[in-house]
Amino acid sequence: MDLFEYQARDIFEKHGVPVLGGVVASTVEEARAGAEQLGGGTVVVKAQVKTGGRGKAGGVKLAHSPEEAAERAGEILGMDIKGHTVHKVMIAAGAKIAEEYYFSVLLDRAERRYLAMASVEGGMEIEQLAVERPEALAKVAIDPLVGIDEAKAAEIADAAGFPDELKPLVQDVFRKLWTVYKDEDATLVEVNPLVRTEDGQIVALDGKITLDENAGFRHPDHAELEDALSADPLEARAKAKDLNYVKLDGSVGIIGNGAGLVMSTLDVVAYAGERFGGVKPANFLDIGGGASAEVMANGLDIILSDPQVKAVFVNVFGGITACDAVANGIVKALELLGDKETKPLVVRLDGNNVAEGRAILREANHPLVTLADTMDGGAAKAAELADA
Ligand code: GDP
Ligand code: MN
Repeated sequence: MDLFEYQARDIFEKHGVPVLGGVVASTVEEARAGAEQLGGGTVVVKAQVKTGGRGKAGGVKLAHSPEEAAERAGEILGMDIKGHTVHKVMIAAGAKIAEEYYFSVLLDRAERRYLAMASVEGGMEIEQLAVERPEALAKVAIDPLVGIDEAKAAEIADAAGFPDELKPLVQDVFRKLWTVYKDEDATLVEVNPLVRTEDGQIVALDGKITLDENAGFRHPDHAELEDALSADPLEARAKAKDLNYVKLDGSVGIIGNGAGLVMSTLDVVAYAGERFGGVKPANFLDIGGGASAEVMANGLDIILSDPQVKAVFVNVFGGITACDAVANGIVKALELLGDKETKPLVVRLDGNNVAEGRAILREANHPLVTLADTMDGGAAKAAELADA
């Protein structure tokens, strides 16, 4: 889960990373009040959207009075930045910037460790810098078991070419940002720019944090960081029902058990869909091992309420929960849904007790249900029905 800058700012503050005052506002009045709260002097009005390049898009503006802050907020609120609507701005205390630096820590999956990156040439052109002069962006491997200790912080500051007199200050900030990364279970912490102010402070002026949702159980406080305004409504409903659901753009709803089977079902449907004018899967939904009637009904309910869905492919491999139990689950789910079930359903069962499972579905003889013998056959049938 990506956080907004103002949320990252708050988390930085909690871990002792130097930040400036910031107040979030969703109206012009709140923006004015925020600027007053920060002392009535110069502030920066910053669009809160989960994408980079806000500065270049006109989403970061200076204001010299609360009145001006309100005006700038009026311009920025409602703006579209790379497809993200601005619902909130942060009113940030203005900084007198002497220099802009860059720092980040991220997960390096390929190397099975973390990676710190730092540069004394931070600011809005960092992506360009990384491409044109990669040597100016220091990359330092981080051993996950050691993290950024004193020696590692010194190595990063050195590799990035920070001047000696700044090293104690920036190294301290690197270590605090590492604490953010580790203690909050982040997969990315990025500060651009990390600045030196004219009075010699090192301050994180912008912050980007991605949290590892798989570690959410360790962080009950992270739940409130979720962005209800921009969340996909179907994904939000699925989450409330504890379903592993990801909305996609196609028209064939997919239900399967086990992430691997569901992933390959998506591939097979997309492949079969090529013959029907590019029909694609509408979602990922893994109902897991249990596949009870209730879980099946909840899953079907969510998929059927997606207006883009034209047909559904249920692809279940009976294991510990055998096919007859799954078939009973599907029959009961269809009863539970009643009139809500209005779209054709292709069901492919295989594995433990497959004959019994198919017999149960044949007997139920639901007018919208088609049985398929194979995964490829089921995918083709579902794609064909979605194209009709
Ligand atoms: P981004 O473009 O989305 O990464 O937004 P940033 O928060 O990084 O802001 C973009 C640029 O605005 C920074 O690189 C700074 O040059 C400038 N900026 C941000 N905050 C301040 C501030 O408090 N004072 C001044 N003078 N400039 C700022
Ligand atoms: Mn930035």
